[in-house]
Amino acid sequence: MPTLTLLPGREKSLLRHHPWIFSGAIARIDGNPTSGETVDLLASDGNFLAHAAYSPNSQIRARAWNFESSEQVNPDFFRKRIKNAIALREAIPETHITDAVRLVYSESDGLPGFIVDRYADTLVLQSLTAGSEYWKDIFADFLLEATGLSQIYERSDADVRELEGLAPTVGPLRGEISHPSLLISENQLKFHINIESGHKTGFYIDQRENRLRLRHLAEGRDVLDCFCYSGGFTVNALAGGARLVLSVDSSADALALCWENVSLNNLLSYRHATMQGDVFQLLRKFRDEARSFDLVILDPPKFAPTAAQAEKAARGYKDINLLAFKLLRPGGILVTFSCSGGIDADLFQKIIASAALDAGAEAQIIEHLSQAPDHPVALNFPEGQYLKGLVCVKR
Ligand code: SAH
Repeated sequence: MPTLTLLPGREKSLLRHHPWIFSGAIARIDGNPTSGETVDLLASDGNFLAHAAYSPNSQIRARAWNFESSEQVNPDFFRKRIKNAIALREAIPETHITDAVRLVYSESDGLPGFIVDRYADTLVLQSLTAGSEYWKDIFADFLLEATGLSQIYERSDADVRELEGLAPTVGPLRGEISHPSLLISENQLKFHINIESGHKTGFYIDQRENRLRLRHLAEGRDVLDCFCYSGGFTVNALAGGARLVLSVDSSADALALCWENVSLNNLLSYRHATMQGDVFQLLRKFRDEARSFDLVILDPPKFAPTAAQAEKAARGYKDINLLAFKLLRPGGILVTFSCSGGIDADLFQKIIASAALDAGAEAQIIEHLSQAPDHPVALNFPEGQYLKGLVCVKR
């Protein structure tokens, strides 16, 4: 088997079972591994550290599959990992009352680069790394075996694939998929999602419990749903008895989907309005017009994928949250999120505190929110924790 040998002192993170090996930590590569091939990872003294997938183009030059020299990385290994991942979801009660569930979440399930979401009877797979690409077909077969389903659609078109030297791949991987638009149900509400063109694999599954929480907070309130996409929060707010919901997004396609999902649930359309535009500008416009709301949701796209963009991202978060505090009536609720890996929960809370201060608002946190439990965080991979949310009440 080819081997990667680390520089002295660079084995520390591996000993804590963190799965990433950066190119700068490697002293020597022996045996000419191909892209995605399994290599033995050795410390500078020759001691075994991990079996890892080699990725010749990426700064993350290898990702560990396991840390046991006796556990071979072979089809049986993947069969077990997939079985374990699916068993974990079966043990989560929330996943039984919805048919949009993340079955496999990359490093968090010991399968770096593999993401699998189940939408009703269709699995949507993302392969994001050289290692996942190498084992993709075997992985797909075991997924069908473990779930008893017959359809897998591939959505390997995320930008990060480029860093691994992989071209985008989208289309059916197993079985016949007649239409990319699927109907799913989440906590008794229905949503149309498009697995071919939708964001991520089609839906923001990670917000499931937060959408339900919002449903319970919305009664009788005037709600502003910023960055509404396909209307996950909007539909829940209306179902929860919101007085009015205004849904804002820069994308006309997103707003069309949002309308579709509101009518799919037979919610009263006269209580719903949409507005296309840039949230940063629209919030300013609403402030200048002295408009106000009882509940504002801010669920923006990732401003800081990594810590390198954190400073600029922090300014963006502060800006929209400051404006949201200004638009809130006394007693109003701000439900605010960040899905940026580069901004941790502590920093996010500090940004929101400084936004409130500069808005001249006093507020209290009544809840800390996170990603849904089918997006687990492995203790050896804290980076798996990316979604943070705060529910604040303005005094
Ligand atoms: N809240 C949604 C997910 C939001 S995804 C849900 O629960 O499903 C982020 C959305 O923000 C996308 O739909 C994107 O079109 C929109 N967006 C990105 N930048 C924007 C901007 N500056 N102004 C308005 N919308 C924006």
